[in-house]
Amino acid sequence: MSDCIFCKIIAGDIPSDTLWEDENVIVFRDIDPKAPTHVLIVPKEHIVTFADFKEGQGDILLSMSKAARAVAEAEGVLDSGYRLIVNNGPDGGQEVLHLHMHLFGGRPIGPMIKRAE
Ligand code: AMP
Repeated sequence: MSDCIFCKIIAGDIPSDTLWEDENVIVFRDIDPKAPTHVLIVPKEHIVTFADFKEGQGDILLSMSKAARAVAEAEGVLDSGYRLIVNNGPDGGQEVLHLHMHLFGGRPIGPMIKRAE
């Protein structure tokens, strides 16, 4: 999609600190990291949310899993642990409307979500 920032990164039109890629997925460092390791695992195809996978796209999910493991290993967090988060839609806090999985590690990531007051 022409106005999608992640599509521009995938096309090489915007620079990124890319750590890993295969034919389906690219992994680059988040520009505003919230943990010592904070990377984004992004399908190269413009899929908007996790709910938008279609039949025949299972290989993209498998690549996302492979990417998470490879990058966690390369970043030295495979054994210490890490968190994977996919934000979906407005209440999920999704700001970029191109599916991406955050991987956070390198310190204890803390409670899963903050309880509402
Ligand atoms: P989300 O709120 O789940 O949509 O997360 C979007 C993430 O994309 C945020 O953590 C941003 O810091 C990150 N981000 C936005 N623009 C860029 C960029 N050009 N390169 C790397 N990360 C980016």
